[in-house]
Amino acid sequence: MPVRPENRHQARLLRLLRDDGSRSRVELGDAVGLSRSRLAAEVERLVELGLVETAGPAASRGGRRSSLLRVASTVRFAGIVIGTEQICVSVTDGELGVLAEIREPSDLRLGPEPVVGRAVELVGKLRAELGLAQLAGAGVGLPGPVAVGGGAPAAPAAVPGWQGFPVRDTVGAELGCPTLVDNDANVRALGEQHAGIGRTFDDFLYVKLGTAIGCGLVLGGDLHRGATSSAGDIAHLRLGDDGPTCGCGEVGCLEAYCGDSGLVRVALAAARSGRSPALAERLAAAGALTVADVAAAAAAGDPVIQAAVRDGGRRLGQALVGLVSFVNPGIVIIGGAPDGLGHTLLAEVRAVVYRRSAPQATGTMPIVLSDLGDRAAVVGAARLISDRVFAPD
Ligand SMILES: [Zn+2]
Repeated sequence: MPVRPENRHQARLLRLLRDDGSRSRVELGDAVGLSRSRLAAEVERLVELGLVETAGPAASRGGRRSSLLRVASTVRFAGIVIGTEQICVSVTDGELGVLAEIREPSDLRLGPEPVVGRAVELVGKLRAELGLAQLAGAGVGLPGPVAVGGGAPAAPAAVPGWQGFPVRDTVGAELGCPTLVDNDANVRALGEQHAGIGRTFDDFLYVKLGTAIGCGLVLGGDLHRGATSSAGDIAHLRLGDDGPTCGCGEVGCLEAYCGDSGLVRVALAAARSGRSPALAERLAAAGALTVADVAAAAAAGDPVIQAAVRDGGRRLGQALVGLVSFVNPGIVIIGGAPDGLGHTLLAEVRAVVYRRSAPQATGTMPIVLSDLGDRAAVVGAARLISDRVFAPD
């Protein structure tokens, strides 16, 4: 099994090197506040353990020349993201930079065994390409709620058949490395914290739109999962007693207004009633409508669809008014919006949140679209497991 740091000082040094890149011994000493001899001893152990290596001489600050240190080039993580319609796997270096990545269409409804099996296979392919004997760990992002302690999707699972399937244990056994599983909103929040705009905020919300809606909360620099790892599970917040019926069977859920299925439902109704001739034509030709058709109709100026998208944005804004006043984040990052609809949704969210929240809470709080996009998910999955691996036993 891969090695781990032996104490909290070593863990802290590893995380610094992961997050900030290579550093000289002098800079590391300044950052962790260890005596020179203690630092030298801890670094020496990390080098012996194969977790850290020297990376050439550092720029001189006067006095004795220092060498640069970095996470060892043998430390490699796998980031696996299983979506409702796509699998994405990647292998990163110790700083969580993506070295290689494969994306391919998938279908969650096929069930956990073939989908998880395929993800493992793709990691194997990347390992072979990169000539990797061993992974330091694997992180997995899944749509919908995940019981993090058990490493399996929790109820209500994104689709039937996945609830309780031991994703963590299956992937861990196949890849032979420590493995952790979390929901995709949390994983993406970690990605934003590592490589996106979340880097500069200790407190932020990451709202994940798309097929499964969720919210990752980073509070005081740490992801907050709550007592039963369901913090941020906002998909079924009730926003209207006479709203549309949600996939969960209730009415008026956030997901029924601004999730992909909610938007497609409005588009289908508009096509069938003849209020949207272009969508009716598309439905007749393709036999079904997708969220890409919704985006195309909005871009073409279809008033029914534009109104539905704006309404979805306003509902999300209403949900955020409550969340923002409760959590007081430094920034709200919105990701996973269907291509072409992000800016319309964002404009409505901003209008509602800034109008209805206390200026004290939102006066300086930006609301932005993620600029990492799906990259947040694979980097975040790697970050998830690296937090575990770069922690003392
Ligand atoms: Zn619902």
